[in-house]
Amino acid sequence: MPVDLTPDPAVAELAKRTAAFVREVVVPVEERHAGVVRDDAVRAELQRAAREAGVFAPHVGVEHGGHGLDMRGRAAVFEEAGYSLLGPLALNIAAPDEGNMHLLEAVATQEQKERYLAPLVAGEVRSCFAMTEPAPGAGSDPAALTTRAEKVPGGWRIDGRKWFITGADGAAFAICMARTSGAPGDRGGATMFLVDADNPGMTLVRHIDTLDESLYGGHLEVAFEGCVVPDDAVLGAVDEGYRYAQVRLGPARMTHCMRWLGIARRSQDIAVARARERELFGSRLADLGMVQAMIADNEIDIAASRGLVLQACWELDRGGSAAQATAIAKTFTAEAVWRVVDRAVQICGSLGISGDVLLGRFLREVRPFRIYDGPSETHRWAIAKRVAGRVDR
Ligand SMILES: Cc1cc2nc3c(=O)[nH]c(=O)nc-3n(C[C@H](O)[C@H](O)[C@H](O)COP(=O)(O)OP(=O)(O)OC[C@H]3O[C@@H](n4cnc5c(N)ncnc54)[C@H](O)[C@@H]3O)c2cc1C
Repeated sequence: MPVDLTPDPAVAELAKRTAAFVREVVVPVEERHAGVVRDDAVRAELQRAAREAGVFAPHVGVEHGGHGLDMRGRAAVFEEAGYSLLGPLALNIAAPDEGNMHLLEAVATQEQKERYLAPLVAGEVRSCFAMTEPAPGAGSDPAALTTRAEKVPGGWRIDGRKWFITGADGAAFAICMARTSGAPGDRGGATMFLVDADNPGMTLVRHIDTLDESLYGGHLEVAFEGCVVPDDAVLGAVDEGYRYAQVRLGPARMTHCMRWLGIARRSQDIAVARARERELFGSRLADLGMVQAMIADNEIDIAASRGLVLQACWELDRGGSAAQATAIAKTFTAEAVWRVVDRAVQICGSLGISGDVLLGRFLREVRPFRIYDGPSETHRWAIAKRVAGRVDR
């Protein structure tokens, strides 16, 4: 079936405004902070500027003050925002808040939307999503979930340990996945809970020292010990957590791809600018065949990633699960973005390794994307299983 890839004029105009905002306002702040901001005042200032430019929170519904972009619309705008490591933070479309907003919009009750979604959309608070556990718990295989929630009068008591919880430091609340029935290994029986950060049963154990540093609020180990939450803290229905995780994860995979595609393009722009000005062996780098090959391969990787993401977004917009399309797009893009940034470093030579351009920072930031939102191997395994299991082949 043919897919029309042209964004509608309003989306194209928003993408253009986002591109200008990111280049003029965000990139100078990013360069000043070498891509890593840990200061709420800087975050608030960037978000104020995005609001003023009319590009803030474009993904949420118009009723929540956003532009109500569908997934294909997000593809155009998020890539422009992703041109800077701080663009998504400025627009309030950074992980994990953006995925959590999507989930809350789809699943939360009216009261939960007012209490959790509204301040999140406004940028007044941040959030985190607590699914992954240290071994032998949930990771590539979410069914290994060990954190338990037991029914108590008027609510639930959650016990378990999570790690790599992005943004947990400073988050106002966590969406925590816990097992409410069955045993680790079972494919059902999980429930999502909204846990306020001031709950005495939820403790931030430590910041994990990681290769990447730009995602706001760090990656933390979080303990849930005798963490009692009321019945209305259940997000959606009891035992339906895995189903809701798919509501969040499919689109969240694609929005990660969109944002990192922005960084791939930025890296290519830096490398091409260098290749045009640097002279070697009597010619410009840009005229040497092996550099041309790297520049061309970068273009191919970027174009192919964008095409796969748009295909998956189109399927999501039509209401499908797009499980195969998002797995293919995520796997390819995560690996392609790494290749693009790595080639950009190579083209720039020692400059690429230095802190004078941000390519080294970008390389560190994109590497974990081959692991989170499903490692490449998990996706390849799932893709192959779906293909091999098809009866109509
Ligand atoms: C920077 C970063 C941020 C993160 N943020 C969050 C967050 O906010 N919230 C959250 O809940 N989690 C988060 N995570 C965790 C992330 O989702 C997990 O790392 C991911 O699901 C993989 O789980 P694991 O790390 O336990 O690896 P494991 O499950 O131990 O897998 C290890 C390796 O096994 C291999 N493998 C996996 N499946 C297969 C297969 N079928 N066949 C062959 N080999 C396979 C892969 O190479 C994989 O890398 C984050 C992780 C990182 C790195």
